Amino acid sequence: MGKNILNNLPLKIGRRNFLKLASVGAGLGISNAFASNNSIRPASQEEIKNPFPNSKMVKTICSICSAGCGIVAEVQNGVWVRQDVAQDHPISEGSHCCKGIDQIDLVKSKQRVKHPMKKVAGKWERISWETAIKEISEKMLKLRAENGPDVAMFLGSAKFNLQQAFYFRKFAAMWGTNNIDHVARI
Ligand code: SF4
Repeated sequence: MGKNILNNLPLKIGRRNFLKLASVGAGLGISNAFASNNSIRPASQEEIKNPFPNSKMVKTICSICSAGCGIVAEVQNGVWVRQDVAQDHPISEGSHCCKGIDQIDLVKSKQRVKHPMKKVAGKWERISWETAIKEISEKMLKLRAENGPDVAMFLGSAKFNLQQAFYFRKFAAMWGTNNIDHVARI
C-alpha cells in the first residue's frame, strides 16, 4: 500500500486492490442477484491491476468547502469512476478531511437524494419542487407571523460562492433578521 494510483499497484490485497476487485465484480454483474453463472469469472491479473483501461486522470478541486483541497478524479468515458488524493497539491498536500475523501459519493452514492422527499406516516415519499417550496414557505411564514423574524437562523453553506453568499445574506435581511452565520465559523 502507499503507492500512488498513477503507478502500478502492488499485488497484495490492500484497501485499494480490494476496491479494484469490487469494481471488476460490479462490471461483470456479480452484484446482480439475477446474473447467470456464465457471466461470472475470476478477474484476470491485468483487470485487477487496471479495471478502467481507458480512464484518464483529471486534476480538480474538492468543492465541498472553500479550503479547495486537491483531488485526482479518474474518469472513464465521461464517468467519474474513482478518486485519489492529489499528492502534489500546494494546499492539501495529499490529504483530505473525512468529507472530501469520498467526494465521489456526491455523484456515485446510491443514497444520494435526487428529489425533494417528505416523510408521510413514517415513510419517505417523493414530492415535486413546487410542493416542497410551497409547504416549506408556508410553514416559515406561519412561524414568523406567530413568533417574529428572529425565530429563524440562517446558516450558510461552505459550498457557497461569493454571489450565492450575497443572495443568502439578502434573503435573511428580507426575512427581517440578523441571525445569519456561515458553517465554516461554526
Ligand atoms: S471538504 Fe475537506 S477535503 Fe474538501 S476542500 Fe474542504 S477541507 Fe478539503
